[in-house]
Amino acid sequence: MSTVGHLINGEIRNDADRLQDVYNPATGEVSKQVALASVATVEEAIAAAQAAFPAWRNTPVGKRAAVMFKFKALLEANADKICKLIGEEHGKISHDAAGELQRGIENVEYACGIAELLKGEHSRNVGPGIDSWSEFQALGVVAGITPFNFPAMVPLWMYPMAIACGNCFILKPSERDPSSALFVAELLQEAGLPPGVMSVVNGDKVAVDVLLEHQDIKAVSFVGSTPIAEYIYTTATANGKRCQALGGAKNHAIVMPDADMENAVNQLLGAAFGSSGERCMALSVAVAVGDEAADALIAKMSEGMKPLKVGPADDSSNDFGAVITKQHMDKVVGFIDSAEKDGAKVVVDGRGVKVAGYENGYFVGATLIDHVTANMESYQQEIFGPVLQVLRVDTMQEAMDLINAHEYGNGTCIFTRDGEAARYFSDNILVGMVGINVPLPVPVSYHSFGGWKRSLFGDLHAYGPDAARFYTKRKTITQRWPSSGVREGVSFSFPS
Ligand code: NAD
Repeated sequence: MSTVGHLINGEIRNDADRLQDVYNPATGEVSKQVALASVATVEEAIAAAQAAFPAWRNTPVGKRAAVMFKFKALLEANADKICKLIGEEHGKISHDAAGELQRGIENVEYACGIAELLKGEHSRNVGPGIDSWSEFQALGVVAGITPFNFPAMVPLWMYPMAIACGNCFILKPSERDPSSALFVAELLQEAGLPPGVMSVVNGDKVAVDVLLEHQDIKAVSFVGSTPIAEYIYTTATANGKRCQALGGAKNHAIVMPDADMENAVNQLLGAAFGSSGERCMALSVAVAVGDEAADALIAKMSEGMKPLKVGPADDSSNDFGAVITKQHMDKVVGFIDSAEKDGAKVVVDGRGVKVAGYENGYFVGATLIDHVTANMESYQQEIFGPVLQVLRVDTMQEAMDLINAHEYGNGTCIFTRDGEAARYFSDNILVGMVGINVPLPVPVSYHSFGGWKRSLFGDLHAYGPDAARFYTKRKTITQRWPSSGVREGVSFSFPS
């Protein structure tokens, strides 16, 4: 059985003090093992990065960008292989994996323009013969810790920009589907990156804790669940590091009585069940305003869910695939059970779904639950499965109050034909990413991605313009070259 190792100082290595099984979620079989890095292995990667940093930060910005241009071409040339690796370990269908990869490539494209982003600011004659400017300098060695659900894209949110800014980067991907992240990092090496600038250490908490505590790591980017995001943020910042930690979500869609119901239902189907609901921007709650809208929504959703097809990743006729592990499948089913026990009505039931030829796969069918209320545990928690919960309210304000009271504030959306209502909604909703008739308002690569409340710990959002600020330190230089012979007198007043 093959082992997924690490990329350290330009070499693939398999050293591990422990190995962990990697499963194919569609078959339930162990397909590979992943090497879990020891403290010493992570320290070696950090030392290699630290050694590579002085030369990389001084590499002209155009040359750093040139590596990103080649990297983009290699990603496109190897797209099929990357999508296959994603499918085998994550379970997502090839067309969905291709979408994930494309969004990742767009982050590389943005990093290709790094020279423009690092230009700095200049002011001439801020005082007699004095010029002042700000420049943005690389931090040093920075780390990224990423989740299972976008194994190729989320790492690409981080390191193209970090590296283009002149930093060295250490990635710790999810140990549940590690292969695509490792392969993509090898492509970056092939694009001409000097050894040590980018390392991948596979591993678990042991590896993460080294990254959080080591004095040579200057910043940490994290994406994953909220309890771990909070741990990462408090530990990294207690160790003096800059940190951005993106957490979990419960994304609500408000369905207004005037919405184009056909359109809303089509959008909701994809956004709730695509990727088995294992997206941090998945719409997992629909809040219908008025019983008429709710009844129409339930009727049309039930109808629209009938042809949905769940199955293995390599059959592109499937709409979505298996969930990541048996344990996660049991958790998703447990939330459906608990909603039912709490009095909600399971209208379309995906529990116990079987896929012919894949009887041991971790499949949950698309599930629709009506009459969910805010006090139910299944509403308060992130389910992260193909489950859409429907709540019924009387007014748009009630719907907004529900969203604003929820622990999470990642994404949200309103379906309406009323521009005034949509504007009020986007002005007053306490959520970081807002869609108006757009179900998955994932910002494009030249904007930045981040939630509010307990969906993000830290200040700056991921990728886009915020990444250029997160991965650099501002330095402001004030300069005077006195004309020969001109001497300043002594002054004890504050310079003005
Ligand atoms: P997770 O929190 O279990 O794992 C994320 C990373 O943290 C992995 O690399 C893992 O190895 C590491 N980790 C896990 N436990 C740890 C511990 N105790 N100490 C140190 N490190 C630890 O998340 P996941 O299950 O892989 O991903 C799904 C979650 O990620 C969902 O909650 C989803 O909403 C969230 N997510 C959020 C965003 C966002 O942008 N806000 C994007 C994608 C996923």
